[in-house]
Amino acid sequence: MDLSIVVPCCNEGDVLDDLTDRLSAVLPKITHDYEVILVDDGSSDETLAKARRASVEHPGFRFVALSRNFGKEAALVAGLRHATASRIAVLDADLQHPPEMLPDMVKLLDSGYDQVVARRSRHGESFARTALSRLYYWVVNKLVDVSLQDGVGDFRLLSRRAVDALLSLPEHNRFLKGLCSWIGFDTATVSYRNVVRSGGKSKWSAGKLLNYGIDGILSFNNKPLRAAIYLGALITVLAFCYATFVVVNTLVSGVRVPGYATLVVAVACLGGINLLVLGVIGEYLGRIYVETKRRPSFLIKETGPVDTAAASTRW
Ligand code: UDP
Ligand code: MG
Repeated sequence: MDLSIVVPCCNEGDVLDDLTDRLSAVLPKITHDYEVILVDDGSSDETLAKARRASVEHPGFRFVALSRNFGKEAALVAGLRHATASRIAVLDADLQHPPEMLPDMVKLLDSGYDQVVARRSRHGESFARTALSRLYYWVVNKLVDVSLQDGVGDFRLLSRRAVDALLSLPEHNRFLKGLCSWIGFDTATVSYRNVVRSGGKSKWSAGKLLNYGIDGILSFNNKPLRAAIYLGALITVLAFCYATFVVVNTLVSGVRVPGYATLVVAVACLGGINLLVLGVIGEYLGRIYVETKRRPSFLIKETGPVDTAAASTRW
């Protein structure tokens, strides 16, 4: 097999037909030996029905249906797990990742790379979101050990050995964008103009984005724990200086009762910082807890056109 395309789909019924048409038009230009793996991530609309139909009507199309919604990262891994080709592309179902770029990306990969990453402009996005993303990437790149680029999403083409490397990582909590950077190998970047969703709705609420952002930071290092130590140390030093000042002041000018403001400020600040640091520690602890349970990242309920679910329910 020359080329596998992995597409995570969660409630993408509105766009799936379009996607199937565009992929069927562009893929034969690259190779005739391709497969498209539509991963249904517990959709509640007609996505699975359409995926089933596509797998019957379009040669090369297959589907993997997860038993419920496990999230995009898990859906991607499920797809990668089922991909059999020597080059594997990952793209969103909503046509925000133009399939027409694939021929060039394949050429680039063949010219000696293991990863070809598509980087989008933030064209058509709200100013607030662009500014927030920029800030986030700036902070993240200061914090984490792998480099994450603004605008680089999950639209990428990988060589077999890059995918094998990704799949060999045993962790449960996956932050694929970071892992792709972590595995290394020669990476080329191509740019494209941001495309707005062709139908359906984005699954990313502000809250989900925030959680995704925190995942990005915590998955790749323990610098936040180190920051907690520094913060604690800094506050201890400040508290010690202030305590010395208070003691000396009391010795010199006697007991003065006023000090309510100082007390309240000190208690509130220390309480806040305590909770924050505890939260950071708790977050790591939670991750360890999840990893130690060793549950699979996803379960499969159906695959097609030929049902191979029995062979690969667990990963
Ligand atoms: N997706 C998924 N599971 C989820 C959420 C999203 O498989 O729980 C898929 C979704 O169907 C789409 C891709 O991930 O193909 C990107 O999602 P979306 O377009 O909502 O994200 P955005 O482009 O807004 O970042
Ligand atoms: Mg999208």
